[in-house]
Amino acid sequence: MATHTAEGAEPDEAEAESALETALRQLSAAAAHVDTDEGVIERLKHPTRVVEVAVPLERDDGSVEVYTGYRAQHDDVRGPYKGGLRFHPEVTAEECVGLSMWMTWKCAVMDLPFGGAKGGVVVNPKELSTEEKERLTRRFAGEIRDTIGPKRDIPAPDMGTDAQTMAWFMDAYSMQEGETIPGVVTGKPPVIGGSYGREEAPGRSVAIIAREAIDYYGKRIEDATVAVQGFGSVGANAARALDDWGADVVAVSDVNGAAYDTTGLDTHAVPSHEEQPEAVMQYDAPNTLTNEELLELDVDVLIPAAIGNVITADNAGDVDADVVVEGANGPTTSTADTILEERGVPVVPDILANAGGVTVSYFEWLQDINRRQWSRERVNEELEDHMLSAWNDVRAEVEARDVSWRDAAYVVALGRIGEAKATRGLWP
Ligand code: NAD
Repeated sequence: MATHTAEGAEPDEAEAESALETALRQLSAAAAHVDTDEGVIERLKHPTRVVEVAVPLERDDGSVEVYTGYRAQHDDVRGPYKGGLRFHPEVTAEECVGLSMWMTWKCAVMDLPFGGAKGGVVVNPKELSTEEKERLTRRFAGEIRDTIGPKRDIPAPDMGTDAQTMAWFMDAYSMQEGETIPGVVTGKPPVIGGSYGREEAPGRSVAIIAREAIDYYGKRIEDATVAVQGFGSVGANAARALDDWGADVVAVSDVNGAAYDTTGLDTHAVPSHEEQPEAVMQYDAPNTLTNEELLELDVDVLIPAAIGNVITADNAGDVDADVVVEGANGPTTSTADTILEERGVPVVPDILANAGGVTVSYFEWLQDINRRQWSRERVNEELEDHMLSAWNDVRAEVEARDVSWRDAAYVVALGRIGEAKATRGLWP
Protein backbone atom coordinates (compact mmCIF):
# COMPACT_ATOMS: atom_id res chain seq x y z
CA MET A 1 0.00 0.00 0.00
CA ALA A 2 1.25 3.49 -0.74
CA THR A 3 2.44 5.27 2.34
CA HIS A 4 2.94 8.98 2.71
CA THR A 5 4.61 11.01 5.38
CA ALA A 6 3.01 14.18 6.69
CA GLU A 7 4.66 16.17 3.93
CA GLY A 8 3.59 13.72 1.26
CA ALA A 9 7.06 12.25 0.70
CA GLU A 10 7.56 8.49 0.63
CA PRO A 11 9.35 7.12 3.70
CA ASP A 12 12.42 5.00 3.14
CA GLU A 13 11.14 1.97 1.16
CA ALA A 14 12.88 -0.44 3.52
CA GLU A 15 10.93 1.11 6.42
CA ALA A 16 7.46 0.74 4.99
CA GLU A 17 5.93 -2.57 6.08
CA SER A 18 2.76 -4.27 4.92
CA ALA A 19 0.00 -4.76 7.47
CA LEU A 20 0.69 -8.51 7.40
CA GLU A 21 4.43 -8.05 8.00
CA THR A 22 3.68 -5.75 10.94
CA ALA A 23 1.14 -8.16 12.43
CA LEU A 24 3.52 -11.14 12.15
CA ARG A 25 6.45 -9.15 13.56
CA GLN A 26 4.35 -8.06 16.55
CA LEU A 27 3.25 -11.67 17.12
CA SER A 28 6.89 -12.86 17.20
CA ALA A 29 7.93 -10.00 19.50
CA ALA A 30 5.14 -10.83 21.96
CA ALA A 31 5.79 -14.59 21.72
CA ALA A 32 9.31 -14.01 23.06
CA HIS A 33 7.81 -12.74 26.33
CA VAL A 34 4.82 -15.04 26.79
CA ASP A 35 4.84 -18.69 27.74
CA THR A 36 2.45 -19.74 24.98
CA ASP A 37 2.49 -23.13 23.24
CA GLU A 38 4.38 -23.00 19.95
CA GLY A 39 1.48 -24.63 18.16
CA VAL A 40 -0.75 -21.76 19.24
CA ILE A 41 1.73 -19.20 17.92
CA GLU A 42 1.94 -21.12 14.65
CA ARG A 43 -1.86 -21.16 14.37
CA LEU A 44 -2.00 -17.39 14.92
CA LYS A 45 0.27 -16.82 11.92
CA HIS A 46 -2.63 -17.97 9.71
CA PRO A 47 -6.19 -16.71 9.26
CA THR A 48 -9.05 -19.15 9.79
CA ARG A 49 -10.31 -18.30 6.32
CA VAL A 50 -10.29 -15.67 3.61
CA VAL A 51 -13.47 -15.50 1.56
CA GLU A 52 -13.24 -13.98 -1.92
CA VAL A 53 -16.41 -13.06 -3.79
CA ALA A 54 -17.36 -11.47 -7.10
CA VAL A 55 -19.58 -8.43 -6.66
CA PRO A 56 -21.40 -7.52 -9.87
CA LEU A 57 -22.82 -4.01 -10.00
CA GLU A 58 -25.17 -2.44 -12.49
CA ARG A 59 -23.83 1.08 -13.06
CA ASP A 60 -26.21 4.00 -13.49
CA ASP A 61 -25.63 3.90 -17.27
CA GLY A 62 -26.88 0.28 -17.42
CA SER A 63 -23.46 -1.34 -17.88
CA VAL A 64 -22.29 -4.07 -15.50
CA GLU A 65 -18.99 -4.05 -13.67
CA VAL A 66 -17.67 -6.87 -11.49
CA TYR A 67 -15.65 -6.01 -8.39
CA THR A 68 -13.73 -8.33 -6.06
CA GLY A 69 -14.64 -8.47 -2.38
CA TYR A 70 -12.88 -10.13 0.56
CA ARG A 71 -13.54 -11.05 4.15
CA ALA A 72 -10.57 -12.31 6.15
CA GLN A 73 -11.26 -13.95 9.52
CA HIS A 74 -8.20 -14.44 11.66
CA ASP A 75 -9.16 -16.07 14.94
CA ASP A 76 -12.35 -16.51 16.98
CA VAL A 77 -11.21 -18.34 20.10
CA ARG A 78 -12.52 -15.48 22.29
CA GLY A 79 -15.74 -14.78 20.40
CA PRO A 80 -17.16 -13.75 17.00
CA TYR A 81 -14.89 -12.14 14.44
CA LYS A 82 -15.01 -8.33 14.40
CA GLY A 83 -13.53 -5.78 12.03
CA GLY A 84 -14.04 -3.12 9.40
CA LEU A 85 -15.16 -3.26 5.79
CA ARG A 86 -13.40 -0.88 3.42
CA PHE A 87 -14.16 0.29 -0.08
CA HIS A 88 -10.76 1.19 -1.50
CA PRO A 89 -8.93 0.56 -4.78
CA GLU A 90 -5.91 -0.91 -2.97
CA VAL A 91 -7.73 -3.55 -0.90
CA THR A 92 -5.98 -6.94 -1.22
CA ALA A 93 -6.50 -10.34 0.41
CA GLU A 94 -3.10 -10.04 2.09
CA GLU A 95 -3.88 -6.62 3.53
CA CYS A 96 -7.20 -7.91 4.87
CA VAL A 97 -5.37 -10.79 6.58
CA GLY A 98 -2.82 -8.45 8.17
CA LEU A 99 -5.49 -6.05 9.37
CA SER A 100 -7.65 -8.93 10.66
CA MET A 101 -4.69 -10.02 12.84
CA TRP A 102 -4.39 -6.48 14.16
CA MET A 103 -8.06 -6.64 15.12
CA THR A 104 -7.45 -9.89 17.00
CA TRP A 105 -4.74 -8.21 19.11
CA LYS A 106 -6.84 -5.04 19.58
CA CYS A 107 -9.93 -6.91 20.80
CA ALA A 108 -7.82 -9.07 23.11
CA VAL A 109 -5.91 -6.15 24.66
CA MET A 110 -9.30 -4.50 25.38
CA ASP A 111 -10.58 -7.84 26.73
CA LEU A 112 -13.57 -7.75 24.36
CA PRO A 113 -15.19 -11.12 23.55
CA PHE A 114 -14.29 -10.87 19.86
CA GLY A 115 -11.66 -12.12 17.44
CA GLY A 116 -10.26 -10.27 14.44
CA ALA A 117 -11.58 -9.84 10.90
CA LYS A 118 -11.27 -7.35 8.06
CA GLY A 119 -12.78 -7.11 4.61
CA GLY A 120 -13.50 -4.89 1.72
CA VAL A 121 -14.22 -4.37 -1.92
CA VAL A 122 -11.56 -3.36 -4.43
CA VAL A 123 -13.25 -0.21 -5.69
CA ASN A 124 -12.82 3.55 -5.65
CA PRO A 125 -16.02 4.70 -3.92
CA LYS A 126 -15.47 8.27 -5.14
CA GLU A 127 -16.20 7.03 -8.67
CA LEU A 128 -19.62 5.64 -7.65
CA SER A 129 -22.90 7.50 -7.24
CA THR A 130 -24.78 7.10 -3.96
CA GLU A 131 -27.19 4.68 -5.65
CA GLU A 132 -24.30 2.63 -7.04
CA LYS A 133 -22.68 2.47 -3.60
CA GLU A 134 -25.96 1.25 -2.14
CA ARG A 135 -26.33 -1.51 -4.77
CA LEU A 136 -22.69 -2.54 -4.32
CA THR A 137 -23.07 -2.71 -0.53
CA ARG A 138 -26.29 -4.75 -0.73
CA ARG A 139 -24.83 -7.21 -3.24
CA PHE A 140 -21.61 -7.59 -1.21
CA ALA A 141 -23.72 -8.24 1.90
CA GLY A 142 -25.58 -10.94 -0.04
CA GLU A 143 -22.38 -12.55 -1.29
CA ILE A 144 -20.77 -12.83 2.16
CA ARG A 145 -24.00 -13.56 4.02
CA ASP A 146 -22.96 -17.10 4.98
CA THR A 147 -19.66 -15.86 6.37
CA ILE A 148 -20.99 -13.14 8.68
CA GLY A 149 -23.72 -12.79 11.31
CA PRO A 150 -24.22 -11.31 14.79
CA LYS A 151 -22.83 -14.46 16.43
CA ARG A 152 -20.27 -15.18 13.74
CA ASP A 153 -18.61 -12.06 12.28
CA ILE A 154 -19.67 -8.45 12.77
CA PRO A 155 -18.41 -5.86 10.24
CA ALA A 156 -18.03 -2.12 10.91
CA PRO A 157 -17.22 1.01 8.87
CA ASP A 158 -13.67 1.60 7.69
CA MET A 159 -11.98 3.54 4.86
CA GLY A 160 -14.56 4.49 2.22
CA THR A 161 -17.55 3.20 4.20
CA ASP A 162 -19.69 4.92 6.84
CA ALA A 163 -22.82 4.69 8.97
CA GLN A 164 -25.05 4.79 5.87
CA THR A 165 -23.11 1.88 4.33
CA MET A 166 -23.68 -0.11 7.52
CA ALA A 167 -27.41 0.74 7.41
CA TRP A 168 -27.70 -0.66 3.85
CA PHE A 169 -25.63 -3.68 4.84
CA MET A 170 -27.82 -4.39 7.86
CA ASP A 171 -30.98 -3.94 5.80
CA ALA A 172 -29.80 -6.29 3.03
CA TYR A 173 -28.81 -8.97 5.56
CA SER A 174 -32.05 -8.58 7.50
CA MET A 175 -34.21 -8.78 4.35
CA GLN A 176 -32.56 -12.07 3.42
CA GLU A 177 -32.87 -13.50 6.92
CA GLY A 178 -36.51 -12.45 7.15
CA GLU A 179 -36.11 -10.51 10.41
CA THR A 180 -34.42 -7.29 11.56
CA ILE A 181 -30.95 -8.16 12.84
CA PRO A 182 -29.22 -4.93 13.92
CA GLY A 183 -26.33 -6.82 15.58
CA VAL A 184 -24.91 -7.99 12.24
CA VAL A 185 -22.90 -4.75 11.88
CA THR A 186 -21.81 -1.91 14.15
CA GLY A 187 -21.28 1.75 13.38
CA LYS A 188 -24.92 2.18 12.29
CA PRO A 189 -26.91 5.39 12.79
CA PRO A 190 -28.49 5.40 16.31
CA VAL A 191 -32.02 5.40 14.84
CA ILE A 192 -31.57 1.78 13.66
CA GLY A 193 -29.60 0.42 16.60
CA GLY A 194 -26.33 2.33 16.40
CA SER A 195 -24.73 3.55 19.60
CA TYR A 196 -24.47 7.11 20.82
CA GLY A 197 -20.84 8.09 21.22
CA ARG A 198 -19.55 5.60 18.62
CA GLU A 199 -18.22 8.26 16.26
CA GLU A 200 -16.31 10.13 18.99
CA ALA A 201 -15.06 6.96 20.68
CA PRO A 202 -11.63 6.46 19.03
CA GLY A 203 -10.64 10.09 19.71
CA ARG A 204 -12.08 9.93 23.20
CA SER A 205 -10.10 6.79 24.00
CA VAL A 206 -6.92 8.46 22.71
CA ALA A 207 -7.62 11.36 25.11
CA ILE A 208 -8.27 9.03 28.05
CA ILE A 209 -5.01 7.15 27.42
CA ALA A 210 -3.07 10.43 26.93
CA ARG A 211 -4.49 11.69 30.23
CA GLU A 212 -3.38 8.51 32.01
CA ALA A 213 0.08 8.73 30.40
CA ILE A 214 0.45 12.35 31.55
CA ASP A 215 -0.41 11.28 35.09
CA TYR A 216 1.85 8.20 34.92
CA TYR A 217 4.83 10.29 33.90
CA GLY A 218 4.26 12.66 36.81
CA LYS A 219 2.49 15.68 35.32
CA ARG A 220 -0.80 17.32 36.12
CA ILE A 221 -3.07 17.55 33.11
CA GLU A 222 -3.54 21.28 33.80
CA ASP A 223 0.21 21.77 33.27
CA ALA A 224 0.51 19.53 30.21
CA THR A 225 1.06 20.63 26.62
CA VAL A 226 -0.22 18.56 23.69
CA ALA A 227 0.33 18.59 19.91
CA VAL A 228 -2.08 16.73 17.63
CA GLN A 229 -1.38 15.88 13.99
CA GLY A 230 -4.64 15.45 12.04
CA PHE A 231 -7.85 17.23 13.04
CA GLY A 232 -10.34 14.63 11.82
CA SER A 233 -12.55 12.23 13.70
CA VAL A 234 -9.72 10.92 15.90
CA GLY A 235 -7.57 14.06 16.23
CA ALA A 236 -10.31 16.62 16.85
CA ASN A 237 -12.19 14.49 19.38
CA ALA A 238 -8.94 13.72 21.23
CA ALA A 239 -7.75 17.34 21.19
CA ARG A 240 -11.10 18.73 22.36
CA ALA A 241 -11.46 16.22 25.21
CA LEU A 242 -7.92 16.98 26.47
CA ASP A 243 -8.61 20.71 26.13
CA ASP A 244 -11.84 20.27 28.14
CA TRP A 245 -9.92 18.38 30.83
CA GLY A 246 -7.47 21.28 31.23
CA ALA A 247 -4.49 20.47 28.99
CA ASP A 248 -2.98 23.14 26.72
CA VAL A 249 -3.39 21.87 23.16
CA VAL A 250 -0.72 24.06 21.57
CA ALA A 251 -0.82 22.73 18.00
CA VAL A 252 -3.27 20.92 15.73
CA SER A 253 -2.92 20.29 12.00
CA ASP A 254 -4.57 19.10 8.84
CA VAL A 255 -2.98 18.14 5.54
CA ASN A 256 -2.11 21.83 4.87
CA GLY A 257 -0.21 22.56 8.10
CA ALA A 258 -0.68 23.41 11.77
CA ALA A 259 -2.21 26.16 13.89
CA TYR A 260 0.13 26.90 16.82
CA ASP A 261 -0.37 28.85 20.04
CA THR A 262 2.03 28.35 22.95
CA THR A 263 -0.72 29.41 25.38
CA GLY A 264 -3.14 26.77 24.05
CA LEU A 265 -5.61 26.84 21.15
CA ASP A 266 -9.37 27.05 21.53
CA THR A 267 -9.81 23.61 19.98
CA HIS A 268 -13.59 23.94 19.75
CA ALA A 269 -13.15 27.00 17.53
CA VAL A 270 -10.78 25.24 15.10
CA PRO A 271 -12.91 23.59 12.38
CA SER A 272 -12.62 19.79 12.43
CA HIS A 273 -12.38 17.80 9.21
CA GLU A 274 -16.07 16.96 9.49
CA GLU A 275 -17.17 20.55 10.21
CA GLN A 276 -15.11 22.07 7.39
CA PRO A 277 -12.54 19.91 5.61
CA GLU A 278 -8.92 21.11 5.57
CA ALA A 279 -9.74 24.46 7.24
CA VAL A 280 -7.39 24.34 10.26
CA MET A 281 -5.23 27.09 8.74
CA GLN A 282 -8.26 29.41 8.58
CA TYR A 283 -8.28 29.55 12.39
CA ASP A 284 -6.72 32.80 13.55
CA ALA A 285 -3.70 31.35 15.39
CA PRO A 286 -0.72 33.47 16.43
CA ASN A 287 1.62 31.09 14.60
CA THR A 288 1.59 28.35 12.00
CA LEU A 289 3.83 25.32 11.55
CA THR A 290 4.39 22.63 8.95
CA ASN A 291 3.32 19.10 9.84
CA GLU A 292 6.99 18.18 10.11
CA GLU A 293 7.61 20.97 12.65
CA LEU A 294 4.57 19.89 14.67
CA LEU A 295 6.04 16.39 15.09
CA GLU A 296 9.22 17.91 16.53
CA LEU A 297 7.60 20.28 19.06
CA ASP A 298 8.81 20.28 22.65
CA VAL A 299 5.52 19.18 24.23
CA ASP A 300 4.48 16.74 26.93
CA VAL A 301 2.35 14.62 24.60
CA LEU A 302 2.51 14.19 20.82
CA ILE A 303 -0.55 12.58 19.22
CA PRO A 304 -0.08 11.59 15.56
CA ALA A 305 -3.72 11.14 14.50
CA ALA A 306 -3.72 11.64 10.72
CA ILE A 307 -2.14 8.80 8.73
CA GLY A 308 0.38 5.97 9.07
CA ASN A 309 4.20 6.10 8.85
CA VAL A 310 4.74 9.75 9.83
CA ILE A 311 7.37 9.10 12.52
CA THR A 312 10.20 7.47 10.60
CA ALA A 313 13.96 6.90 10.79
CA ASP A 314 14.33 10.43 9.36
CA ASN A 315 12.59 12.35 12.15
CA ALA A 316 12.44 9.99 15.17
CA GLY A 317 15.70 11.49 16.45
CA ASP A 318 14.07 14.94 16.44
CA VAL A 319 10.84 14.06 18.26
CA ASP A 320 11.00 16.25 21.36
CA ALA A 321 7.79 15.14 23.11
CA ASP A 322 7.97 13.37 26.47
CA VAL A 323 5.52 10.71 25.31
CA VAL A 324 3.89 9.73 22.01
CA VAL A 325 0.29 8.46 22.06
CA GLU A 326 -0.69 6.90 18.73
CA GLY A 327 -4.07 8.11 17.47
CA ALA A 328 -3.73 6.97 13.85
CA ASN A 329 -3.11 3.34 12.97
CA GLY A 330 0.61 2.67 12.56
CA PRO A 331 1.98 6.24 12.66
CA THR A 332 5.40 5.03 13.92
CA THR A 333 7.55 2.81 11.70
CA SER A 334 9.36 -0.04 13.42
CA THR A 335 12.74 1.65 12.85
CA ALA A 336 11.41 4.84 14.42
CA ASP A 337 10.01 2.79 17.29
CA THR A 338 13.50 1.44 18.03
CA ILE A 339 15.04 4.92 17.85
CA LEU A 340 12.43 6.36 20.21
CA GLU A 341 12.89 3.45 22.62
CA GLU A 342 16.66 4.01 22.66
CA ARG A 343 16.06 7.71 23.31
CA GLY A 344 13.72 6.88 26.18
CA VAL A 345 10.59 8.36 24.54
CA PRO A 346 7.68 6.07 25.43
CA VAL A 347 5.20 5.29 22.63
CA VAL A 348 1.72 4.21 23.73
CA PRO A 349 0.49 2.05 20.84
CA ASP A 350 -2.53 2.42 18.57
CA ILE A 351 -4.01 -0.97 19.52
CA LEU A 352 -4.57 0.40 23.02
CA ALA A 353 -5.00 4.16 22.48
CA ASN A 354 -7.50 4.24 19.61
CA ALA A 355 -9.36 1.06 20.63
CA GLY A 356 -12.34 3.12 21.80
CA GLY A 357 -13.94 2.55 18.38
CA VAL A 358 -14.12 -1.21 18.63
CA THR A 359 -14.96 -0.96 22.32
CA VAL A 360 -18.06 1.15 21.64
CA SER A 361 -18.82 -1.21 18.73
CA TYR A 362 -18.96 -3.93 21.37
CA PHE A 363 -21.38 -1.76 23.37
CA GLU A 364 -23.46 -1.28 20.21
CA TRP A 365 -23.61 -5.04 19.69
CA LEU A 366 -24.72 -5.54 23.30
CA GLN A 367 -27.42 -2.87 22.86
CA ASP A 368 -28.61 -4.56 19.65
CA ILE A 369 -28.78 -8.01 21.18
CA ASN A 370 -30.62 -6.71 24.24
CA ARG A 371 -32.79 -4.31 22.17
CA ARG A 372 -32.03 -1.57 24.67
CA GLN A 373 -30.27 1.66 23.80
CA TRP A 374 -27.79 3.22 26.23
CA SER A 375 -27.51 6.96 26.88
CA ARG A 376 -24.39 8.80 25.71
CA GLU A 377 -23.44 9.26 29.37
CA ARG A 378 -23.54 5.51 29.98
CA VAL A 379 -21.50 4.82 26.83
CA ASN A 380 -18.83 7.30 27.92
CA GLU A 381 -18.75 5.93 31.47
CA GLU A 382 -18.36 2.35 30.27
CA LEU A 383 -15.72 3.43 27.76
CA GLU A 384 -13.80 5.13 30.54
CA ASP A 385 -13.95 1.93 32.64
CA HIS A 386 -12.79 -0.28 29.76
CA MET A 387 -9.95 2.05 28.79
CA LEU A 388 -8.70 2.34 32.38
CA SER A 389 -8.85 -1.39 32.84
CA ALA A 390 -6.85 -2.02 29.61
CA TRP A 391 -4.40 0.75 30.51
CA ASN A 392 -3.82 -0.85 33.93
CA ASP A 393 -3.32 -4.31 32.42
CA VAL A 394 -0.75 -2.99 29.92
CA ARG A 395 0.96 -0.82 32.54
CA ALA A 396 1.36 -3.87 34.78
CA GLU A 397 3.27 -5.66 31.99
CA VAL A 398 5.43 -2.58 31.30
CA GLU A 399 6.43 -2.55 34.96
CA ALA A 400 6.76 -6.32 35.44
CA ARG A 401 8.75 -7.06 32.29
CA ASP A 402 10.49 -3.75 31.62
CA VAL A 403 9.25 -3.74 28.02
CA SER A 404 7.89 -0.99 25.78
CA TRP A 405 4.21 -0.06 25.91
CA ARG A 406 3.77 -1.63 22.49
CA ASP A 407 5.34 -4.94 23.49
CA ALA A 408 3.36 -4.89 26.72
CA ALA A 409 0.07 -4.44 24.83
CA TYR A 410 0.87 -7.41 22.58
CA VAL A 411 1.92 -9.48 25.61
CA VAL A 412 -1.46 -8.79 27.26
CA ALA A 413 -3.28 -9.70 24.02
CA LEU A 414 -1.31 -12.84 23.27
CA GLY A 415 -1.50 -13.99 26.89
CA ARG A 416 -5.31 -13.87 26.76
CA ILE A 417 -5.57 -15.58 23.38
CA GLY A 418 -3.03 -18.27 24.32
CA GLU A 419 -4.82 -19.01 27.58
CA ALA A 420 -8.19 -19.24 25.84
CA LYS A 421 -6.77 -21.66 23.26
CA ALA A 422 -5.08 -23.80 25.90
CA THR A 423 -8.26 -23.95 27.97
CA ARG A 424 -10.54 -24.81 25.05
CA GLY A 425 -8.08 -27.29 23.55
CA LEU A 426 -7.64 -28.26 19.91
CA TRP A 427 -10.56 -30.04 18.29
CA PRO A 428 -10.64 -32.95 17.41
P1 NAD B 1 -10.32 11.84 9.06
O1 NAD B 1 -10.40 11.69 7.61
O2 NAD B 1 -11.54 12.18 9.85
O3 NAD B 1 -9.23 12.98 9.41
C1 NAD B 1 -7.91 12.90 8.97
C2 NAD B 1 -7.20 14.22 9.31
O4 NAD B 1 -5.83 14.08 8.97
C3 NAD B 1 -7.71 15.43 8.54
O5 NAD B 1 -7.63 16.56 9.38
C4 NAD B 1 -6.68 15.55 7.38
O6 NAD B 1 -6.56 16.87 6.89
C5 NAD B 1 -5.43 15.13 8.10
N1 NAD B 1 -4.39 14.64 7.18
C6 NAD B 1 -4.53 13.85 6.10
N2 NAD B 1 -3.35 13.62 5.52
C7 NAD B 1 -2.45 14.28 6.26
C8 NAD B 1 -1.07 14.44 6.16
N3 NAD B 1 -0.37 13.90 5.16
N4 NAD B 1 -0.44 15.18 7.11
C9 NAD B 1 -1.15 15.76 8.12
N5 NAD B 1 -2.46 15.66 8.25
C10 NAD B 1 -3.10 14.92 7.33
O7 NAD B 1 -9.63 10.50 9.60
P2 NAD B 1 -9.82 9.78 11.02
O8 NAD B 1 -11.04 8.94 10.97
O9 NAD B 1 -9.65 10.76 12.12
O10 NAD B 1 -8.59 8.78 11.01
C11 NAD B 1 -7.27 9.19 11.27
C12 NAD B 1 -6.40 7.98 11.55
O11 NAD B 1 -6.93 7.26 12.65
C13 NAD B 1 -6.28 6.95 10.44
O12 NAD B 1 -5.01 6.35 10.54
C14 NAD B 1 -7.34 5.95 10.79
O13 NAD B 1 -7.05 4.67 10.23
C15 NAD B 1 -7.20 5.93 12.28
N6 NAD B 1 -8.37 5.46 13.01
C16 NAD B 1 -9.61 5.95 12.77
C17 NAD B 1 -10.68 5.47 13.49
C18 NAD B 1 -12.07 5.98 13.27
O14 NAD B 1 -13.02 5.30 13.68
N7 NAD B 1 -12.27 7.15 12.69
C19 NAD B 1 -10.48 4.48 14.46
C20 NAD B 1 -9.19 4.01 14.71
C21 NAD B 1 -8.15 4.52 13.97
